[in-house]
Amino acid sequence: MARRPISAELDGRVRAAARDRCGYCLSPQHLVMARLQIEHIVPIAKGGSDEEVNLWLACPICNGHKSDKTGAPDPETGQPALLFNPRTQVWSEHFQWVDGGLRIAGKTPIGRATVAALYLGDDPDAIEVRSYWVLAGWHPPKS
Ligand SMILES: [Zn+2]
Repeated sequence: MARRPISAELDGRVRAAARDRCGYCLSPQHLVMARLQIEHIVPIAKGGSDEEVNLWLACPICNGHKSDKTGAPDPETGQPALLFNPRTQVWSEHFQWVDGGLRIAGKTPIGRATVAALYLGDDPDAIEVRSYWVLAGWHPPKS
């Protein structure tokens, strides 16, 4: 399927639904230098569509690690698991902040697979930036 440009109206609706933050690491737009990206929950390369139900926001780090992945092994069991769907699933049911808010840990097979696939627990650039957010009292988010 050819990629079509996403209308400004749809872009605005997705940003509002995502509360202007990355669906995976929860980084808010107002603390990220780069513009958060509209991402395809199911990638176009895997048959995903440009429909609103398949779109969410992701920071460039998470979006880059996610790439065209839709699943990954749960590192605890080795069993395949789908990646977290930020549009239909609740972040706090699958993830938690650890190490004082520096890292994200998975609580479920979906959470653990997503942490591993998107390096949510060990991306050095993200951890360094978060360490300053923690010092400033801006992080971790309350909800
Ligand atoms: Zn992110």
